Amino acid sequence: MHAAVYLGKEQLPVREVPEPSLAEGEMLLAIEACSVCGTDLRTYRHGDHKIIPPRILGHEFCGRVIESRAPDSPVKIGDRVVMYIVIVSGTDRYVEMGRENLTQHRTTMSYHHDGAFAPRMKVPARAVQQGNLFPVTSDISSEIMSLAEPLGCCMNAHSRLRIGLKDTVAVLGAGPIGLMHAALARLQGAQKVVVLDNNPARLEMARGFDLDATVLVRPDGSHRDEVRKLTGGWGPDVVVVAVSSAAAQNDALELAAKAGRVNFFAGLPKSNPIAPLDVNQIHYKELEVSGSYSERKSDFQAAFALLHSGRFPAEKIITHRLPLARISEAFPLMESGAALKVCILPNA
Ligand SMILES: [Zn+2]
Repeated sequence: MHAAVYLGKEQLPVREVPEPSLAEGEMLLAIEACSVCGTDLRTYRHGDHKIIPPRILGHEFCGRVIESRAPDSPVKIGDRVVMYIVIVSGTDRYVEMGRENLTQHRTTMSYHHDGAFAPRMKVPARAVQQGNLFPVTSDISSEIMSLAEPLGCCMNAHSRLRIGLKDTVAVLGAGPIGLMHAALARLQGAQKVVVLDNNPARLEMARGFDLDATVLVRPDGSHRDEVRKLTGGWGPDVVVVAVSSAAAQNDALELAAKAGRVNFFAGLPKSNPIAPLDVNQIHYKELEVSGSYSERKSDFQAAFALLHSGRFPAEKIITHRLPLARISEAFPLMESGAALKVCILPNA
């Protein structure tokens, strides 16, 4: 079969690889849709020391079980499934507290196991055993269900943000992740949801979502005044940083209302993670600043359930579809802001 194989920085050829063959306990999926993640783009452009090449990338997928060597599993041949991609291989305090995203005893699809930028993908026996496959029982599209993984990562952040009817929310970054955060804030009843970006093309796309305002980030900082005006002079109660930028992190601390909550959803490049921040903003305004990384199985389950319900505006998130052979076209589309999510259809 043909698969997109990561060989190193800027090297992701679609090339012939052996068909996966199953061992005891494993399952084989025919991949119907696999969306391209911002981390796929980052891996492609900058490499990732956690991925030892050659490795088939792709971790936001939906596929159908076409072969099974796990007869005792409730998941059967013919089932269409999405997968919680964190596989736990031991136990520690984080596993015990249900925060398996934080354990060191984890392996991850497309990092340690071949992923889904391929027509067929093997599900490791441990993942089958741990109940990481979630059968899709409605006729909702596989493209939409491929968003369960990134939406679950957003859910993880929202569990700490506790957005409700009294909150105004600003999201920094109008990429697919920023707009997912904005849509979640709306669903949770936020009074006002504002999205900021420095790319007018992204803001143009954001206007298709149910937002109260979009604000262009300008070098002179006037966007901060605009957001303050939109929030009655107080600043937003909740700020999510969904763009990998120290300037955005500082904006978030400066924008947030007193007693506000800020989530650094996006990290900084691993090569340059030290940034000067005005930490007195945290001190004097009594801000709660949180991070978020990956997702717990409970986050994935919640994202799965929300997408499955049809109440999430997922169809607006996927703007482009490409056959596997054209996967390299996804990256410039994402970087320019011409695309939100690009979904790869490996069996098209
Ligand atoms: Zn992802």
